[in-house]
Amino acid sequence: MTSSQGSARFESPLATALSQLRRAIDQLQLCDNDWNTLSTPRRILEVAVPLRRDDGRVEMYKGYRVQYSTTRGPSKGGVRFHQDIDLDETVALAMLMTWKCALTNLPYGGAKGGVAVNPKNLSLTENERLTRRYTSEILPIIGPERDIPAPDVGTDERNMAWMMDTYSVNAGYSVPGVVTGKPIVLGGSLGRTSATGDGVAIAVREALRIKGIDIHGATVAIQGFGKVGYWAAVAMENMGMKVMAVSDVNGGVTGFKDVALVHKYVNENGTVIGAPGTEKITNSELLGLNVDVLVPAALSDAITKASAPSIKAKIVVEGANAPTTPAGDEIMNDKGILVVPDILANSGGVIVSYFEWVQDKQNYFWSAEEVKENLNSILMRSINEVSEQSTSHQVTWREAANMIGVGRVAQAHRLRGLYP
Ligand code: NAD
Repeated sequence: MTSSQGSARFESPLATALSQLRRAIDQLQLCDNDWNTLSTPRRILEVAVPLRRDDGRVEMYKGYRVQYSTTRGPSKGGVRFHQDIDLDETVALAMLMTWKCALTNLPYGGAKGGVAVNPKNLSLTENERLTRRYTSEILPIIGPERDIPAPDVGTDERNMAWMMDTYSVNAGYSVPGVVTGKPIVLGGSLGRTSATGDGVAIAVREALRIKGIDIHGATVAIQGFGKVGYWAAVAMENMGMKVMAVSDVNGGVTGFKDVALVHKYVNENGTVIGAPGTEKITNSELLGLNVDVLVPAALSDAITKASAPSIKAKIVVEGANAPTTPAGDEIMNDKGILVVPDILANSGGVIVSYFEWVQDKQNYFWSAEEVKENLNSILMRSINEVSEQSTSHQVTWREAANMIGVGRVAQAHRLRGLYP
């Protein structure tokens, strides 16, 4: 990739990620060599994943694993099962993981992977076969010292258990550290399931403090009621905030007493729509609600040139990865909205994944309190660094976070030197 590619106007997740990298490189006054090394993913594996359906038909799905960087340690990143994923988006998400791990100062590079499949169309046994075959296709490049997958959109601790088992059966012994986000009995960490949402809530708490808004009774709308959105809602309610609306791919609801009721309904019905005592709203109406805080926690490109003008929230905390396009970002900045960027706001997941990996390596497991305390301390360190960088360099929080993350990876490159 050349520097001219980075300065063009793009709106795809990869284009957005590249334009943010270009800006960080310019703001840090790094050189063309830095751009060339940092804008290029280091290893890309595209695989065909055959699946025998329960009725005997054989179907082929595309799978990916992108190791964007291994400069600061093994690469780390989630596995997404979603019908719309492609290589460009996977590269973009792997790039974001790289800056996120550097920003939080975890000893990792960045990765991402996935299969272009709608997991809702799979039976449990089909999902297991697909997960195991995908794992075996990417097996040569993953491992606790190489690249450590975790759950993302469309995958959960069940998929991680199958991945861990597939890897371990091939190794001939149990290798819990090959994935994180596992069930506790297989070497998972206490607090991992809720970690990303807990981190989002901590970021919201700090943003409210900075904006001078009382946390008690502060109002929140959440787009996406999956692993991140649900646990963020629970944590924010526990902190005294009022969650006014939540949504999923089918639309949103408002008017509920607490999120536990909506969650119970989702577990039984697969959607928030129709939860008792709620009124239906659209996802775009949710984005425009008159609340203190908006948390996009679904997919990319939610806040765009088209949707950003309607946002009334004073704070936007990005639970999702890459939910905002550059045009959407510009509009929010012009409105004076404090945007806590994805690589900071949703870093709780990878922070506790790191704790899980450390515990697996040491075969020594921490209490829930230790996990919570350490999560809070790493996240607070990163939030304070970003806030200080934003003030001292007069840049947005997104720019500040990218400057810190990109700067650390660039420095690591320079210190390691270029082989041969
Ligand atoms: P998930 O699959 O558990 O939930 C996704 C949610 O988004 C579901 O409620 C789904 O219905 C909803 N959704 C999908 N398309 C939508 C649309 N067009 N409009 C509104 N809602 C829509 O996924 P997750 O793990 O909660 O991940 C959500 C986001 O957070 C992703 O961007 C992911 O990369 C990011 N993230 C996840 C983790 C993690 O630990 N799971 C960590 C960091 C970042």
